[in-house]
Amino acid sequence: MHQPTTQPRSSLYYNYKIHQPWLPKGKTQPERMPVVIVGCGPAGLVAALKLAKLGVPSVVLSAELQVSQGSRAIVFTRRSMEILQDVGVADRVSAAGLPWRFGNSYFRGQHVFRMEAPHDEDDRFFPMINLQQQYLEEYLLQACGEEPLIELRWGNKVERIEHAATHATLTVDTPAGVYEQQAQWVLAADGGRSAIRAAMNLQMEGASYEGYFVIADIRCDLPLPTERLAFFDPDWNPGNTVLVHREPHGIWRVDYQLPKGETPEQALKSESLKARIDATLAMVGFAGITWTMDWYSVYSARALTLPDYVQNRVLFAGDAAHLLPIFGVRGANTAFQDAQSVAWHLAMVVKGQASEKLLANYSAERVGAAREIIEEGGKSTRFMTPPSRGFQMLRDAVLSLSLTEQFVRPLYHWRTSRPHEYTDSALNATDDDNLLFQTGPGDGAAPQNVRLAANDYLLDHVGPGFTLLYACDEHGIPAAVRAVVDAARAKHLPVKLVAVGTARANGADLSLADDQGRLRRRYGMQAAGSAYLLRPDQHICARWICLDATRLSAALAQALPH
Ligand SMILES: Cc1cc2nc3c(=O)[nH]c(=O)nc-3n(C[C@H](O)[C@H](O)[C@H](O)COP(=O)(O)OP(=O)(O)OC[C@H]3O[C@@H](n4cnc5c(N)ncnc54)[C@H](O)[C@@H]3O)c2cc1C
Repeated sequence: MHQPTTQPRSSLYYNYKIHQPWLPKGKTQPERMPVVIVGCGPAGLVAALKLAKLGVPSVVLSAELQVSQGSRAIVFTRRSMEILQDVGVADRVSAAGLPWRFGNSYFRGQHVFRMEAPHDEDDRFFPMINLQQQYLEEYLLQACGEEPLIELRWGNKVERIEHAATHATLTVDTPAGVYEQQAQWVLAADGGRSAIRAAMNLQMEGASYEGYFVIADIRCDLPLPTERLAFFDPDWNPGNTVLVHREPHGIWRVDYQLPKGETPEQALKSESLKARIDATLAMVGFAGITWTMDWYSVYSARALTLPDYVQNRVLFAGDAAHLLPIFGVRGANTAFQDAQSVAWHLAMVVKGQASEKLLANYSAERVGAAREIIEEGGKSTRFMTPPSRGFQMLRDAVLSLSLTEQFVRPLYHWRTSRPHEYTDSALNATDDDNLLFQTGPGDGAAPQNVRLAANDYLLDHVGPGFTLLYACDEHGIPAAVRAVVDAARAKHLPVKLVAVGTARANGADLSLADDQGRLRRRYGMQAAGSAYLLRPDQHICARWICLDATRLSAALAQALPH
């Protein structure tokens, strides 16, 4: 019988709440659910919320009775915030987090590079915001609690999975014993040690890097701004790298590489932790300052992915699907993109809007994203932790040169998580005008936000399903275009029709006046009739210089294969 701990985890700043376990009434749950989500981390919760926004109910199973241990992922990107806005929790994260956009790199004590992440007035969110993962999960859970289509079952641990042609059966252990739950589809969002991945004997491909890092969260009163600090080859840790980040509630993340040959057990001895944190604090100019340990852990960099995220009736997302180097804040930020993506693909299949073929597209797009991240993350990882003497020599040459040469310094800026562009997606329209546009996001790209007025941005108005942005004049939406949208809606496909460029357009669900023409300029929508079609994950799947009804029908059919 599964007995999750009922002892709240310890933390200097976060009050862990113990949730009541969900207990089964019998050995089998009578109802087969359309979707059962295994895992209540960022991937599982965002997927449940997006499914609910598209009208699909789900059951979410969590082995534990409380949110995750320690701060874990602490840096969330602008695109993640846009996804969190889509599922209704961005305001809570913005209110609690620490936004930032600058990073500083030091080599042997000398400041060699100041990174500035781009941020302009069209961005609602900062490039990065720091918040401990417990808070993020809490806000996602609050949002799930407000959603009648989501049923959360705490203390429910999946032990086994059996596959049939039309469904999967999960064997779930609880504090009151075992039961079986059938699901048309299972979303495996059960983290890096995925029990489902193991039970299905699925192998990941990619590389694991040598060397370990310690991450430690300390409470300390450091009068430093919220900026990333990276130290290469500092005096106290020769040849290695140290990172420092500020978190809310007076907490600082210290992240340092261990010398070659040192084991995690040696590194996690309290005298070793103390000496290295003291050395880090001295290095940032605060020798002898008082600090208290909150949480620590040790990790090694891995760059692994399943080659296919759809197996039988099971879909994989987040750490269950891939293990990515955390340089460049890839873990949770990639999980959000997976979750938003898997949820809309699955929702369309469950609701009969597309055939199961659509799920292969989820896998193709997100495996493609993981492979791109592995390629990029591998470069960062080899820079941060050179795997061989050759890499070490190359890196040291770059670092040494940077002391005197400006042009080398941008090499310190390892690439951070960003939205993947599905340029080759099978869902992109084949006969649109993508290549004729001079500007704006192309087919497959994530949208660019645009400021419309004070505290009013384009992405505030995008629907949970498809969104058609249509540049209008005083004639409003043409009847033929409107008829295609109405026909899609009659089949329960969610499509929001947004007129751009006029305060009140006949036939539109919403009109954005775009008084200064900012949105039309950024999107290259030069004349009435120009249009963009956004998928439910907001990525562009078609755009036209001049849209007609036939081409809109064709684009919707392309995005929803039967
Ligand atoms: C120690 C540590 C430090 C990290 N530090 C960083 C960092 O600094 N930066 C960064 O970007 N990322 C970091 N990460 C990674 C980041 O936390 C993950 O990428 C992110 O949480 C992935 O979300 P997920 O939902 O896929 O998985 P998880 O957050 O791991 O969630 C998995 C969920 O599945 C549940 N579960 C597991 N097995 C079962 C089962 N059999 N039955 C039912 N439920 C189950 C778990 O209880 C949990 O709710 C860190 C991870 C760890 C472990």
